[in-house]
Amino acid sequence: MFRCRGAAAAAAAACLLLLLAAASRGVAHGAHGHGHGGVAWHSFKQLLDARRGSRVTGLAELKRYMARFGYMAKNSDNDEAFDEHLEAAVMRYQTRLSLPVTGRLDSATLDQIMSPRCGVTDADGDGDRATSHGGAVSRFTFFKGEPRWTRSDVPPIVLTYAVSPTATVDYLPPPTVRAVFQRAFARWASAIPIGFVETDDYAGADIKVGFYAGNHGDGVPFDGPLGILGHAFSPKNGRLHLDASEHWAVDFAVDATATAIDLESVATHEIGHVLGLGHSASPRAVMYPSIKPREKKVKLTVDDVEGVQALYGSNPQFSLSSLSEQGSTSSSPPGRGSFSSRWIVTVTRWSEEAKRFQLQIYSSGMTTKQVSQREQIGENLQVEHQQTSTS
Ligand SMILES: [Zn+2]
Ligand SMILES: [Zn+2]
Repeated sequence: MFRCRGAAAAAAAACLLLLLAAASRGVAHGAHGHGHGGVAWHSFKQLLDARRGSRVTGLAELKRYMARFGYMAKNSDNDEAFDEHLEAAVMRYQTRLSLPVTGRLDSATLDQIMSPRCGVTDADGDGDRATSHGGAVSRFTFFKGEPRWTRSDVPPIVLTYAVSPTATVDYLPPPTVRAVFQRAFARWASAIPIGFVETDDYAGADIKVGFYAGNHGDGVPFDGPLGILGHAFSPKNGRLHLDASEHWAVDFAVDATATAIDLESVATHEIGHVLGLGHSASPRAVMYPSIKPREKKVKLTVDDVEGVQALYGSNPQFSLSSLSEQGSTSSSPPGRGSFSSRWIVTVTRWSEEAKRFQLQIYSSGMTTKQVSQREQIGENLQVEHQQTSTS
């Protein structure tokens, strides 16, 4: 039933079946302000080719948009004049979204501005962080202060998540939504030493997923169809919210709606925020802030993976060359040399009878003694190992 399949190259692999007793954990609150939603982005069409000196109805709304996403000071002079402040904001926006930097509202820029997008601001974190990796420029960012999940000094980290039983959309069956989130969490887990465990205990879960419409109590209201699609909060808040007013799709083959938004793509993006990633300037990255209707974008790119591994280290079974085979476990040795962890966690569901999570933890190059030092994972999880073996 349980096999050691990790790290085939390793001479000695320990295979452990661990039973973790769960305990309820408090979730830190503290939303970072995002301003208000509800902007009428479709009206920006009339701003085509506006530039410094232009005076067009709609520029005041555009200034609110730029302030909303971190490109202008809030409460600046919101009149209909294209002044130097708006020009500077447009240039910052074009830079952060990897558009040609023209300082005017050309069609590529307006098309991007009107695209549906994530509600998390673009400039909350360390600004235009550009890190060189082997000659390529990485475009990932973090939240301010680079917050991340921690449990103890030793990996793996195990986080529980729950999909709200009440904050739902009626046309998507709960098992379908849960399957989407299982796949989305698994993609991130394949890259980093974090295990995600689904739980029915919504109140006690580290990560709380729900669909909400309009003003839903966290100071960051949703805005109806399209526009803002969802948002999530930085670690260790754990809230992941999707706009219930969208037409969410799980399979475009059976849903022809022109404005349908792919649930799995947005789920994968928002989990990146839950883990501590900000928006990426790389248009192909999952963490790029916008997505088109009927676009599917679920595969992590090198930029996404390098960003999240900068926060947590690498899952020892992960290699960048395996990115094209997302979802399958690679048996090849890791492609990068700087791992802080030698663990991979595979989780099964919460057992109601046993009141426990079942986990399989694989490792390579690990001795039994090291294992016993890890019997206490985090402040609330009790671990007992049942079996060790070598292969
Ligand atoms: Zn986002
Ligand atoms: Zn919310």
